[in-house]
Amino acid sequence: MPELPEVEVIKNMIKPFLKGKKINYSIVRNKKLRYIIPDDIITIKNQKILNIKRRGRYILLILFNNTIIIHLGMTGKLSIINNQNIFSYDKHDHIDLIISKNIILRYTDIRRFGFWLWEKKNYEKNIFLKKLGLEPLKNKFNNLYLYNFTKKKNISIKILIMDNKIVTGIGNIYANESLFLSKILPIRISNTLSLKEITILVKKIKYILYKSIKCGGSTINNYKLPNNNNGTYSKYFFVYGRQNKLCKICKKKIIKIIQRNRSTFFCNKCQI
Ligand SMILES: [Zn+2]
Repeated sequence: MPELPEVEVIKNMIKPFLKGKKINYSIVRNKKLRYIIPDDIITIKNQKILNIKRRGRYILLILFNNTIIIHLGMTGKLSIINNQNIFSYDKHDHIDLIISKNIILRYTDIRRFGFWLWEKKNYEKNIFLKKLGLEPLKNKFNNLYLYNFTKKKNISIKILIMDNKIVTGIGNIYANESLFLSKILPIRISNTLSLKEITILVKKIKYILYKSIKCGGSTINNYKLPNNNNGTYSKYFFVYGRQNKLCKICKKKIIKIIQRNRSTFFCNKCQI
């Protein structure tokens, strides 16, 4: 599943092809994604894309009065088709936005857990987006902000930093990795963490997200970038997916447990 760094990389890759351009029309081959594709997207004509943004794991195509909100789900992929085979497609290519005779924004999704929404109001008021907490890379997400939540909560720190209502877009990979670099056990109860530990954690979350964006994200399973390249951040993983392998720092075995149905990885020597 694409997490925040991957979605940021995808947004940055498609933006130069789309910003300021018009969507001439769309071709929707399969309406049944996680939610039925709205008619406004099916019948779209001559709408200028003013900007392309990311909020959490959502990609936003900002139009004059409306916004197209795209969530990639598990296997959703956006690509820019700008070669001569512009009208060839395969069975998982569900949506094309036709920009010009040379450029198509194509949405491909094998498992169809992704979705496209049409928002007529300010996109920040959208039913999905309005629930989102702070963006982790914004300055407002700082040690005092996070500490204000951790000191009051009696849940494990990993569950807390993955709560989208507090901070959005820290998925399982980046939660595990940032806790390792902060030397904090994922199962620590959040109100046992000091402000000093939270200060380090916030720093490491930002560091890891920036580093992953620079690497094009981390490619696991069948997620691919719009240019069909793979992100390379996974080679820097210290704990994620490394159960029973040796810790890169202390050589003890990495442990895997399940927390709220998600895999948690840690080194019980390096992390306390
Ligand atoms: Zn270790």
